Amino acid sequence: MLKEIEITLPDGNKQTVPRGTAVSEILGKVGPAPGGWIAAKLNGQLVDLARKVEEDATLEGIGTDSQAALEILRHSAAHVMAQAVKSIFPEALIAIGPAIENGFYYDFDVARPFTQDDLEKIEAKMKEITSQKLRFSRLDVPREEAIGFFSGLGEKYKVELLEEFTDPVVSYYQQGDLVDLCRGPHIPHTGFLKAFKLTSVAGAYWRGNEHNPMLQRIYGTAFFDKESLKKYLTFLEEAQKRDHRRLGKELDLFSFSDEIGAGMVIYHPKGALIRHILENFEKREHLRRGYQIVVGPTLLKTELWKRSGHFDHYRENMYFTEIDEQSYGVKPMNCLSHMLIYKSKIRSYRDLPLRYFELGTVHRHEKSGVLHGLLRVRQFTQDDAHILCTPGQLNDEIKGIIDFVIDVMGIFGFDFEMEISTRPEKSIGSDEDWERATAALTKALDEKGFQYHICEGEGAFYGPKIDVKLKDALDRRWQCATIQCDFTLPERFDLTYIGPDGARHRPVMVHRVILGAIERFLGVLIEHYAGAFPLWLAPVQAMIVTVTDAQLDFARAVCEELRSRGVRVEVDTRSEKLGYKIREAQMQKVPYMLVIGDKEVEQGAIAPRKRDGTQVSLMTPPQFADLVEKECLESSMGRVGLGIV
Ligand SMILES: [Zn+2]
Ligand SMILES: [Zn+2]
Repeated sequence: MLKEIEITLPDGNKQTVPRGTAVSEILGKVGPAPGGWIAAKLNGQLVDLARKVEEDATLEGIGTDSQAALEILRHSAAHVMAQAVKSIFPEALIAIGPAIENGFYYDFDVARPFTQDDLEKIEAKMKEITSQKLRFSRLDVPREEAIGFFSGLGEKYKVELLEEFTDPVVSYYQQGDLVDLCRGPHIPHTGFLKAFKLTSVAGAYWRGNEHNPMLQRIYGTAFFDKESLKKYLTFLEEAQKRDHRRLGKELDLFSFSDEIGAGMVIYHPKGALIRHILENFEKREHLRRGYQIVVGPTLLKTELWKRSGHFDHYRENMYFTEIDEQSYGVKPMNCLSHMLIYKSKIRSYRDLPLRYFELGTVHRHEKSGVLHGLLRVRQFTQDDAHILCTPGQLNDEIKGIIDFVIDVMGIFGFDFEMEISTRPEKSIGSDEDWERATAALTKALDEKGFQYHICEGEGAFYGPKIDVKLKDALDRRWQCATIQCDFTLPERFDLTYIGPDGARHRPVMVHRVILGAIERFLGVLIEHYAGAFPLWLAPVQAMIVTVTDAQLDFARAVCEELRSRGVRVEVDTRSEKLGYKIREAQMQKVPYMLVIGDKEVEQGAIAPRKRDGTQVSLMTPPQFADLVEKECLESSMGRVGLGIV
């Protein structure tokens, strides 16, 4: 056996080292990383710095400035947390503890839920563990031996995982007295964990299945430096303030009810009004762009879902019912009726493109564990449209949709990014169809000069798509608009048009949404604006508050006058102090407060005050209506003035 091995570095340079040299030693010779080395990629696989290299290999150091390093740190923090929990609650069983976006978690089986107090104790214990600089050491053992070991400890979740593994050899990691089943890699020792925080605790079913035991999931985050941690915690605080579930309650916009069922939104008057404004806005924007409004039914025969492929590929997300011994599916998508409208006549190439738009309410079965406020629901309404066009028109149609997205996102004040998702494993349609559709989407984005990412294998089962991820005020990404190309459904439903040659041809179908699900978009809007909607979207644009009850008659008359002009205005008729009523309107984020005292009654005028405290000069109600109209038009880029409701 040769005693020397050859290591190839990322820059192509080669180093010869004795067999069995540790990764850390080899990297030490390469040079220092900006914040130090954390781990490495050995032949493309992440390994610990302590790993000994036994054969010729490629080696790339992972420094603290990389995303991979951050994930290793956070995953290691999960181990440290498990050690802390086991030392305070020796009876706790450990489940899994991965790194996630922005942090990490670990699931524990404990007798009672953790309290905030517990979290503080656990965090203090973690600090103690990090100060001890305990080494993370790895041990490879036969799977059978590992099963015996964890059975002996009573760690049934680890045993269950091990029983499903197929590898003959598995690895342990040990730091201090905690032994965990893990593939690694980890930070060299616990002292590398310098900036971390436990953020919350929540119940979570083992493996996300509601038939399994409920575990306690502790979330935390970790960074390489305290500055980044502080910045993230500030962001988290801001995000909590903007949480749409909390604001939805405070602003009385919507609610959920166990009596009705999970994932079903109940819109209260103000929430319903915003939705109404959004829907009217959408109808007008679609009509302006040559779309036709259509409405299809919610229940469609199961036979039709079989024909479309939804029954085979999407059944687990659908609801079914029976009418007169006939099976029906509740629509999870709006496409099918639109195709039947197309098929109701013979179409000529001169009729194309046809753009059918529907505010279509769909139902999809989402697992209860993933439901989240307005962002993940079971019933929602999409601003859905299907464009049927000739292959030659496809490029212009897609560019038209992209322009639509740019226009609308600008009105709401969102920046966005684009992604193209390609063919998934589970899909229908020929290779040629997929290539043609993917090329059409790529070409449109290229011609528009957009940068985009490609997400391999993340397309819908019937075609590739462009996803638009908008960026909100906190720079978070939200999936809203999608543009999906589909060469398959027109085939299955035998859609045709008569071409200039007098022969029948197959049209191309594009499924697209601009805002996406109205529910989800509303949730994103609430967080983006922190509940302070721009004037054109605010459910209450002005709140009239009187100094005393003596001015109430005048206040009511002003209210009526403004309403007749289309201003959304209310009167606070409670016998509360003026200061209290103003504060209340501010809390409700009402854009204007109209204060009325004796002076205003005398002059037949009102004194508007903006929600930021700016005082506007005395004016008559018609002047105020003009002001609101002007500002609505300004804040909606000229689209929405007064009277939308
Ligand atoms: Zn691990
Ligand atoms: Zn569709």
